[in-house]
Amino acid sequence: MHRFLHQIQRATVSSWEAVAGLVYPEVCVFCTSDLCQATARSPGVRLCRDCEAKFADEGAAVCFACGAAVGPNLPAQSECLECRTRDFRFQQVIRLGLYEDELRTAVIRGKSPGALPLSAALGELLYGMQAERLRDANVDLVTFVPQHWGKRLVQHHHQAETVAEILAKRLRLPLARWLLVKKRHTRDQSDLPRSERLKNLTAAFGVRRWPRVRGRNVLLVDDILTTGSTANECTKALRAAGAKAVAVAVIARVP
Ligand SMILES: [Zn+2]
Ligand SMILES: [Zn+2]
Repeated sequence: MHRFLHQIQRATVSSWEAVAGLVYPEVCVFCTSDLCQATARSPGVRLCRDCEAKFADEGAAVCFACGAAVGPNLPAQSECLECRTRDFRFQQVIRLGLYEDELRTAVIRGKSPGALPLSAALGELLYGMQAERLRDANVDLVTFVPQHWGKRLVQHHHQAETVAEILAKRLRLPLARWLLVKKRHTRDQSDLPRSERLKNLTAAFGVRRWPRVRGRNVLLVDDILTTGSTANECTKALRAAGAKAVAVAVIARVP
C-alpha cells in the first residue's frame, strides 16, 4: 500500500531529469545566476561556480569517522578527540560541507516542495567532490534514512532519498529504497536537547526482510548529520540484519 502511494505521488530524480531540459532554463538552482555548464564540476551539477565553492569546503581537514572539522595537523583518515571516546557503529562519514551559512540555507530550502532540483544538485556536488572516498568505501548498495510513512504521504520529495538516488546512479550501485523503515514518528533531532535525542530515536528504525543485506557493505545517506544518533540507530538496525559495514554520506555536518 505504501509503495503504491509512493509511486503515484512522489517526484523522482529521473522524472525531474526527463523534463528539466524543457522546463528549467540554464540557471543555478540556488542563486539563479546564469549557468555555464562548462564551468560546472560535473555534468549533472546545476550550480554556478560561486555556489559550488561556497557549499564545498574543499581541502578542509575533517574527522574521518564523523565528518567534523578538525585542525590541519590531524593525519588523514584519523579521528577527532570526541570520536575516540564514543562508539559510533558506522565506519565513516563522507560529507560535502558544514551545516552553516549558504549550505545550511540550501539544505533547508532543499526540503521544501518543488526543491527536488536543488537537492539533486547538492547530491551531484557531493559525488563530484567526494567521488574518491565514496568509491574507496567499497559499498555494495545504497540506502537512506527513511521518513515515517505519514510524512512520506504529505511531502513532495525526501531530500535524503533524492541524494541517495544520485549517489547510487553515479556509483552504479543498487538503491535499496525500502530497506530501512521508520516505525514511528519522532521529533526533529535538532529541536531537542542532547539528553532527549537518544530517547527520541530508541527502536525507531527497522529493516525490512531483504536477504541481500547480509554480508554487504551499505552506504547510508541522509541530508544532515547532527549528533550522529540517527545514523547510528539506522546502522544498528542494518548491522542487526547482517550488514557487514556501514558508511554514511550526508550533504552537511552540523559543526
Ligand atoms: Zn549559484
Ligand atoms: Zn569525529
